[in-house]
Formats: sequence, C-alpha cells, structure tokens
Amino acid sequence: MNDKYYITEATFKQITSKVELPKDFQFKDTLIWELSNGGEIGLDNPVIFSDVEIRDLLTFKAICKDSNLLNITVFKEIQVADSYRYVAPEKNPCYHLDKDCEKIHADYDLTPIKIPEVYIERYSGEEELKIKVNEYRVYFRTLINEFNTKYGGEWIDDENHKSQFAGRISAKFKIPDTDVFDRDEIGAKNSGVHNLLNDDVVYIKKDITDGFKSLWVDEERKKIWHEKKWLFRQSCLGNKKEDIYGDIAPYSQEDVKRILRGIHLIKRNSIIAQLKHLYHIQYCPELKFNEETLQKLGLRPCWNCARFAGSGDAAYFQL
Ligand SMILES: [Zn+2]
Repeated sequence: MNDKYYITEATFKQITSKVELPKDFQFKDTLIWELSNGGEIGLDNPVIFSDVEIRDLLTFKAICKDSNLLNITVFKEIQVADSYRYVAPEKNPCYHLDKDCEKIHADYDLTPIKIPEVYIERYSGEEELKIKVNEYRVYFRTLINEFNTKYGGEWIDDENHKSQFAGRISAKFKIPDTDVFDRDEIGAKNSGVHNLLNDDVVYIKKDITDGFKSLWVDEERKKIWHEKKWLFRQSCLGNKKEDIYGDIAPYSQEDVKRILRGIHLIKRNSIIAQLKHLYHIQYCPELKFNEETLQKLGLRPCWNCARFAGSGDAAYFQL
C-alpha cells in the first residue's frame, strides 16, 4: 500500500481543502518550528497569521510532504454528487497510476458530454428530471455498445459514424443533433505534472519576502501590529459586513476595516498563496501521493491508466 500515484492540479486543490488538523493540535509551536527549521521564508513573526491561517498552511504543507503530520489530520472524504447534467454521472476524482496518462496532461482537453440543455429544460420536477435523464443515459449507453459492436471502438473518430450516432439520439429525444456531443468549455488546466526550474523557487521566495516587507512599509499597518496584534492576525474581519467586536479604539469601524483589508490582501495573495505554491513545487512537484492517503480522501483509480483497464464501452461512456 505504499505505492505513490499521480493526481491533477484540480484534484490537488480539491483534496487540500478537505483535510484539517484536529482542533486541539498544538499548531502554533509546530508552525514556528517548521518555518524556522525549514527556513523557507525567514519568518520572524509567524503569529501574524490567525489560527485558521496557520492551520491551513500547516495542513497544506503536511499534504505536500506526505509527512507524519498527515496521520493525525482529519480527513473529510470527497463526495461528489450526481448533478444529472452529464451523460456519465459525476464521480469522485481519480488518481493515476501512469504518469503518461492523457488525463493528467494539460493537453487533455475533453470535458464530459452534457445532457442537452433543451432536453433538461423540458422537465421541471426533480424526480421527473432524474427519470428522464436516466432514460437518456441508458439509451446513450446502449447505442454506444451497439456502435462499438458494429464499427469497433474507434468509431468515435469517424465523422460519419459520429453524425449517424447524433442522428439517432436526436430522433429519439427530439433534440438538435448538434447538441448531442456538447461539452462544457475548458476551465483550468488539468495537468499535475510539472517541469520545474530552480528559478521558480528563487522567484517565489522573493515574492514571499517582498510580501512580508510590504506588510511593514505602511505606517497604519505597522501601528495596528504594535497596538492591536489580535486585529492584525484576524485581518479577514476587514471583509466582513458586520461590525468588529472588541476594542478597536481609536479606530472607527470603517478605518479599521480598510486597514485590515490591505493586510489581508497581502497575507492571502503574496504570502499564503505563494507559500503554498512553494510547498507544492518543493515537496510534491509531480503531485504524487501515497495510495492510502488518496483512498482515505475518497479518490478512485483512473480507469484509463489502471493496469487492468476497463472495457472499451466503459471508456467511451466516459468521453
Ligand atoms: Zn489515468
């Protein structure tokens, strides 16, 4: 069970938001230890972060390092629900056995085939929609099997066969045949395999150092740090609509929120985001993790690159 497998950037984002440290964990000492020993950022005052931010950073680092810390974290299993918007029901994210699997590369540009909007719009009740979507799915799948048997697994690459397929679906469900293979636009890149230059690390470290410096160049921010450390740490309060409770004098709500928003922006964008970026490329540039960890998080092996790959129709159904 100590095998390591690959995940995509998108899945990495998903899993890092699904793990947290136990509430009673002595995270502050650990962060100070980690940061001063790691020396990544030469941080004098790790306590500029709120407890939530420290927890977030430490957990992220633990995942990247696949470290012992991960054993004591709380895993929240990923559970993806079927939205009834796609021909293939959505499933939990995969991990890949093969580094060369097309699904983890940035040039992999296929999103799932949609159930046509015009079809979905016909049904208003949730239950009715589910039944109708299932009818569509079953027919789609049956037709794929029929085409696979008749023309072999490669028929999808043939425009004639493809339009013949679309024609059948179109006639059966009274939808435009141009909608049959409709997909979502590609959003973020899918690749988790990085090619890194040392320059990247130097550049990111410089960004982090600059972020810290810029926290202190502003007199108002410096003042808040010296006079009201608790507020400085809780900079996220600047974005809240409600009034800030506690002693904020001599500042007005408006002033203190403005200053906190400035602090928070630097913390989030230039320090926390860049630290995470650094952990990622320093400790797990390829996004390769223990299978046990991945399974605990609810990930499943990718059919495309599994050693005992699924049958052809399963493959085509996932198009
Ligand atoms: Zn794969």
